[in-house]
Parts: sequence; C-alpha cells; structure tokens
Amino acid sequence: AREELFQAQKLEAIGQMTGGIAHDFNNLLTAVLGSLTLLQKRLPPDPECEALVKSALVGAERGATLTRRLLAFSRRQDLDVKAVKPVALAAGMLELASRFLDPDIELTTAFEENIPEVLTDANQLEMALLNLIMNARDAMPKGGEILIGVRHCEPAGEAQDNGLPWVELYVRDEGHGMDEKTLEQATAPFFTTKGIGKGTGLGLAMVHALMEQSGGALRILSKPGAGTTVSMVFPAAPVAEGPQPETETAEPAMPD
Ligand code: ADP
Repeated sequence: AREELFQAQKLEAIGQMTGGIAHDFNNLLTAVLGSLTLLQKRLPPDPECEALVKSALVGAERGATLTRRLLAFSRRQDLDVKAVKPVALAAGMLELASRFLDPDIELTTAFEENIPEVLTDANQLEMALLNLIMNARDAMPKGGEILIGVRHCEPAGEAQDNGLPWVELYVRDEGHGMDEKTLEQATAPFFTTKGIGKGTGLGLAMVHALMEQSGGALRILSKPGAGTTVSMVFPAAPVAEGPQPETETAEPAMPD
C-alpha cells in the first residue's frame, strides 16, 4: 500500500509537470501542422519540396501524438465518463489498427455476446486499447497473432460485491513476453525497455490510471517467450430503468 501511495504521488507530480508542457507543445504543434498543411497545398509541383514538407508533417504529427498521450495521461482528473459499449469500441479500434499494422501481424477477435456497457471515458479507453495493441505488436518484431477479446469476468478487488457483472477487454499476443522484473515495473511511469525515442513508458501507466478511475483494474499475464495477455477489467454500468431484454445480441446495428 505504501508503494502504491508513492506510485500515486509520483504519478500526480509527473502528471502536473507533463500536463503543462504538453499543453504548450500541443498548441505549438497545432500551429506548425496547420501551416505545413497550407504550405503543402501551395507548393510548386516539385517532388523534392513535397517530400520535405511531407517529412516535416510526419514529424510534427508524431510530436502531436506524443503530446496528446502526455496530455491524456496528465488529465486523468477530468474524464468524460459515459456508458460505453466495449465490443463496439473494440471493433472500431480493430478496424483502425488493421489499417496501420504490418501485414505480418494477424488480428483476430473473440467477442462474447451480451456484454454489458461499462462506465468510462470512451476516448481514453480507445487510446488505452491502442496502446495495448502497439505493445503487442512491438513484442512481435517477426509478426504473429494479436487477439482482441471482450468477455465476462470475475470482479476485481474487494468491495466489488454490488452484484454487477464485470467485463474484460483484453489483448493477447504471442510475443517475447516479460520476465518477472519487467512485469513488476511495467506500469510504472516512464518505465520502458524499448530504448530512447521508441518507448515513452507511459502506455501502461496511462492504462493503469484509467482503469483505477473507472473502478476497474489492469491485469497482466506474461511469461518470457510465452506471450502476454493484458486485460482491462471493469464493472458493468448499472442498468437504467425500464425493461431490459434478456437476450439482446452483442451490438445493435446502429446505436442511437
Ligand atoms: P512503452 O510501450 O512506451 O515502453 P508501456 O508503459 O506501454 O511503455 O510499456 C512498458 C514496458 O512494458 C515496455 O517497454 C515492455 O518492456 C513491457 N511491455 C508492455 N507490453 C508488453 C507486451 N505486450 N509484451 C511484452 N512486453 C510488454
């Protein structure tokens, strides 16, 4: 518990610090991106110029993604909490991921039926899931299968005996896995084994913080050489009044 308190205080301090910096950077990069996009449109038809502007855009976009991650991470306080459909969210992320992952990564899914909604911040949960998918990919440099699943699960922690079902959103890979030491530190802010410029060490810390704020938990199962399963588990959103059909299929075709 002391270790956890220390971890929380560390997170808080880092959060405040990075929040301020990330915010300024984000504004600056938005301006840079805007100017570059305009420039790109007015460029004379010169392939060399186009390539230069393109690489500047890619760099600025990377910077913007990083600052957004930092911001999301430091703004853990004000989540936009709503009832979220885990299967629909996972399916959406899957579509996105399938567009940018290398073809040697095979994406598969396992979605159980009748998965209830959960209370969390949908955007943050998307970022969290994306983080897990990227980590799974990074663990399989030679390619392999990433399974994204949603299923019912056991409640986490104590004081969870309010009768609500629990939901698990997990990402399983067949990558290099983690040894005990890595596993222990995996969720610590800025812990990374990926080297400078590659990892920020904020991915799992962010997922961990989001799960705590959603009243859930982060579970990691991993063994060196035997792959990793990272699970985000949370309680279902309390069901609103009115008749609830018992056998509703996973997702309505068009919500709302
Ligand atoms: P980053 O991805 O920037 O390193 P994370 O917080 O997401 O930061 O992950 C921290 C560390 O945990 C990684 O550097 C890696 O060593 C380990 N890790 C996370 N996910 C996996 C995975 N799916 N397989 C193996 N190792 C992992």
